[in-house]
Amino acid sequence: MSSNLDREQKTTIFSLKLALSSNLDSCSDCNKTIDFIYMFWGDALVEELKKNKAKVIESGKPLVVRDEKTASGRVHVGSTRSFGLHGIVSEILTEQNVPHTFLYEINDFDVMDGLPVYLDQERFRPYMGQLLYTVPSPDDKAENYAEYFGAEYRAILEGIGFRPKFYRSSEMYKSGLYNEVIKIALEQAAEIRKLYKTISRSEKPDDWLPLQVVCEQCGKLGTTKVTSFDGEMVSYVCLPKLVTWAEGCGNEGTISPYDGNGKLPWKVEWAAKFIVFGVDAEGGGKDHYTKGGARDLANAISEVVYKREHPFDMPHEFILVGGKKMSSSKGAGLSAKGLFDLLPVEIFRLFLIRSDIRSAIDFVPDGDTVPILFDTYDKFADGYFGHNDKVLQDEKRIFFLSHTAEKRKNLMEHFLPRFSQIAFLVQMPHMDINEEVAKMKGAPLTPDDIEEVEKRVHYAKYWLGTYAPEDYKFEVQENLPEGAKAFSDEQKKALAQVLEYIKANEVLDGLALHTEIHEIRKKSGLEAKAFFQTMYLSVLGKESGPKVGWFLSVLNRDFLIKRFTEASK
Ligand SMILES: [Zn+2]
Repeated sequence: MSSNLDREQKTTIFSLKLALSSNLDSCSDCNKTIDFIYMFWGDALVEELKKNKAKVIESGKPLVVRDEKTASGRVHVGSTRSFGLHGIVSEILTEQNVPHTFLYEINDFDVMDGLPVYLDQERFRPYMGQLLYTVPSPDDKAENYAEYFGAEYRAILEGIGFRPKFYRSSEMYKSGLYNEVIKIALEQAAEIRKLYKTISRSEKPDDWLPLQVVCEQCGKLGTTKVTSFDGEMVSYVCLPKLVTWAEGCGNEGTISPYDGNGKLPWKVEWAAKFIVFGVDAEGGGKDHYTKGGARDLANAISEVVYKREHPFDMPHEFILVGGKKMSSSKGAGLSAKGLFDLLPVEIFRLFLIRSDIRSAIDFVPDGDTVPILFDTYDKFADGYFGHNDKVLQDEKRIFFLSHTAEKRKNLMEHFLPRFSQIAFLVQMPHMDINEEVAKMKGAPLTPDDIEEVEKRVHYAKYWLGTYAPEDYKFEVQENLPEGAKAFSDEQKKALAQVLEYIKANEVLDGLALHTEIHEIRKKSGLEAKAFFQTMYLSVLGKESGPKVGWFLSVLNRDFLIKRFTEASK
């Protein structure tokens, strides 16, 4: 009940429950209520899964959780939602000692039916219609096209700590694992056509058979139509105009449908995979979960044709980029690899699991997005380690699960310097960052603290070089900037007072300087903007910048005295 509610709804329900309970002191259930309402969605989902597959669990057979990705090109950031869903479900099952296998298919036994924009179109167009594992690798180094892209998915999944068992679809087909399900599908073609019609309102001609085979002459599968099945062999034609994106050669032949010669259409194949791998839990994007959509049909085929209960459903929402769903084939927007390079593992995982799987995430890599993700992590950490009562139960859980299973075994607290401040410090030449962070912490840094600083420095530099907006980019100007040469007398007077304070204090403390500067502003009668820009313009040539007291305190004091003297003249 709780997991698909957004935070606002949860809060409303919670307030309602509080309002209904006349005497809070006697509300013995209240703590439970809070925990229930704020249950992390992954935990709620696993509870539902365990109820749904109780019989399998009782039988002692390990549950099978499966996910897949077609290796048709670079994986865009949207696909990471599915990684996150299956990965976290598997980790929670492990945590609860529920025996299970987490399978991840690199689907290389699918047809190349589109050319990603970043490929050499001339070179790859002739392969359209072929199975992906028979197309050459773009770099000519990997074994084939699917291996080239599949390696990237694998690296990201493993990189963020998920540990599925990987397999290639082509190997399974070629090994004969699909032979039985192919035979059943061909024998029960009429039943399958009926299900297409009743469930998906899709009318298939009476001679339609749920299989395509590889043409022995041109090597394409996307262009063939199977015309008959005699119980052992299928006859087929390779049609020049079956599809618009590939041209068949006109060949006709008879071939065995087994051992990798033939492939089921994807909705039938989805059901067949449930059978072949004994899948108990598998999710899918909400586009497949529409009424009468691919999943409804696959579930029905699983039960009617293959006589097996369908896997537990786990529909997931998408990651939108600037409000739009991303498309793999167009290759536009941020790739999963791009995001992997942009965020450290725990922030990437936080990004993946923080929002309920049934609500969309809008992700724009520019703007404040990255610093906000780091700040959210820091806030949840504060709650987790008992320093912030406002952090909710599920947020603490999310913080915990943001770390890989390995890290979670020994999750220790250490100092987390604000990402935006690190992003500023890395732009200041000759700055000892560890020293500055120790000042922020108010204590010497531990080895873990230093490791964290190094990590944030790395990601801050990367972010500044890629998605960071101009507001976050600072450069101390070598000479007095033009913008600092036209201050009013009031502005100069106020700046001169800041200068006096700096001259009077040999060591600048960020907080003390902050307090003093705000006092000077009040007395000056200047508008905040007119006042603060005197300092930012003098140093950075910009009207705004990082928090001023801290910002000035980390600059070279002699430089500041020289610069403010010049600007307040
Ligand atoms: Zn052909």
